[in-house]
Amino acid sequence: MRNGQSNGQSWNWRRQAKCLGSDPELFFPAGVTGAPLEQAQAAKRVCQSCPVRSPCLDFALETNQDTGVWGGTTEDERRVMRRNWVRAGRPSRPR
Ligand code: SF4
Repeated sequence: MRNGQSNGQSWNWRRQAKCLGSDPELFFPAGVTGAPLEQAQAAKRVCQSCPVRSPCLDFALETNQDTGVWGGTTEDERRVMRRNWVRAGRPSRPR
């Protein structure tokens, strides 16, 4: 993972990511049913005890990460979060 900043945003939280060293396929399953669904569930279990889950999810929402598990959410779950955020008139952050 990269460190530093992008668009003024600190990426230092990534140093504490529990998924560091994990198989990337676990966090970026190719599909949403069967084995890929099981991979996503396994990735989400890793996220449950990750100390940087909140900044990870913020990053994914703020940068429109449209694939993979970030902050304990799948792309479909983040899509719903973003939709609700837009419907709510775009308060400070998409939650
Ligand atoms: S919340 Fe999940 S995807 Fe994000 S850094 Fe932690 S383990 Fe990785």
